[in-house]
Amino acid sequence: MSFNSLGLSDALLKAINKKGYTTPTAIQEKAIPRILERKDVLASAQTGTGKTAGFALPIIQILAQGQRLRRRPVRALVLTPTRELAAQVYAEVKEYCSFVDIRSTVIFGGVNQNPQVAVLRQGVDILVATPGRLLDLHGQKMLSLAKIEFLVLDEADRMLDMGFLRDIRRILELMPDRRQNLLFSATFSREIKRLASGFLNNPVIVEDTPEQATVEKIDQKVVRVDKGRKTRLIIKLISEGNWKQVLVFTRTKHGANRLSQKLVKAGISASAIHGNKSQSHRTKTLDGFKKATIRVLVATDIAARGLDIPLLPHVINYELPNVSEDYVHRIGRTGRAGARGEAISLVSGEELAYLKGIEKLIEQSIPSEIIAGFEPSQGTETKIEEPQKLHFRKPKPKSNKGNYKKRQRKFGKRPE
Ligand code: AMP
Repeated sequence: MSFNSLGLSDALLKAINKKGYTTPTAIQEKAIPRILERKDVLASAQTGTGKTAGFALPIIQILAQGQRLRRRPVRALVLTPTRELAAQVYAEVKEYCSFVDIRSTVIFGGVNQNPQVAVLRQGVDILVATPGRLLDLHGQKMLSLAKIEFLVLDEADRMLDMGFLRDIRRILELMPDRRQNLLFSATFSREIKRLASGFLNNPVIVEDTPEQATVEKIDQKVVRVDKGRKTRLIIKLISEGNWKQVLVFTRTKHGANRLSQKLVKAGISASAIHGNKSQSHRTKTLDGFKKATIRVLVATDIAARGLDIPLLPHVINYELPNVSEDYVHRIGRTGRAGARGEAISLVSGEELAYLKGIEKLIEQSIPSEIIAGFEPSQGTETKIEEPQKLHFRKPKPKSNKGNYKKRQRKFGKRPE
């Protein structure tokens, strides 16, 4: 299949050619024609599948072929959970617009609003935004959503995880009812389905089964090691393997900082990227990492979502995520665009339950090894995995009934 058969205009094909894409990805192949047919779309696709082009190209085409409105009100809104993703989506949209008269911009929090407002004033057709800054500028009457024809919710599952549901609902109320809606999400949880049924009209469901596809392209490995020896092991792996571009995941922001400092002390250029870092730090770090002046990027899950770093050879899980799906997102940062990648997870005894959950999700067991000099001490694991053995007297059985009632009073009835 080539891009020529998707119904895209010459101007867009030229932009695609300039980007160097030769064949559409699965999600592009499935989504682009349906969006051009003006259907609402519910798509399962994660970062790395080419989803941005999947929604951006047909929207740009429809807007470019339609009549231009006076003063260029915003006609397409792309909502993303993070600033990084917003910036990356915008960068792509801008490139796809190289040969059409469509203007776009991006707004997100954490930076001065004035330059963003100045661009909005000149009129833009496509706006990429994070929910908070969008509502903020709307509240200040700096922008209007009254002429919206397209709404894209990108990484909708992550938006819900980050607590944006209320903001999304408020934003929906600011737009005309007649519009085309596209929802992209890595997972189709019950919450996502509920959100989707609330605003998508008769959507076409486009599934890419990206998780399996991604996982198959990646050499995954578990290295068993004690928690306290992970830093030394990671230094050994990076130095002896002479790895140049490594993305390391930690569970906490604090952990990311600590690890990156220790790597720097060991003479490995590294930097942490997470929610507490300023936007300029994040941009600088990501730039350094792409240019290979920073060898190791230590990131938390949320910060890493949407990072556009093609062809990453190594991903290391310093700690396993406690949400199995995050493992798939993490290792999806390697093995992109046809290249094989390697994902190594450092797993201590405390994390074995997480490992089990992950293996169940990806429907395969990950080969595990032990590195000489870093053998895990079995004793610690047994103690942690079987805490009940520490009880000498049998604890009195407790009734849960009262607690359940209390919980019901506090949180209300469990949702159906
Ligand atoms: P996304 O999933 O939208 O974040 O895209 C992941 C990466 O794949 C980005 O760097 C895109 O520029 C790139 N990409 C998107 N579509 C294609 C394609 N058809 N062929 C090759 N690379 C692509």
